Amino acid sequence: MRHPVVELSDCIGCEVCVEVCPEVFSLNDAGYIEIADMTAYPEACVDEACRNCPKDCIAWAD
Ligand code: SF4
Repeated sequence: MRHPVVELSDCIGCEVCVEVCPEVFSLNDAGYIEIADMTAYPEACVDEACRNCPKDCIAWAD
């Protein structure tokens, strides 16, 4: 299934993805971005997060 992934070694925890697409992305207590477990991800919302991520570290994976 197509799903978003975050390259955590590049992520700076700016939370832009959380603001743009809070149903998918969240910041956990340890300060890392987590991706919700979903059967189908909202494409437009995830694409928007990809486009706006300042570190370009969100991608789709199969
Ligand atoms: S927008 Fe990118 S750099 Fe910012 S918290 Fe999300 S994944 Fe990390």
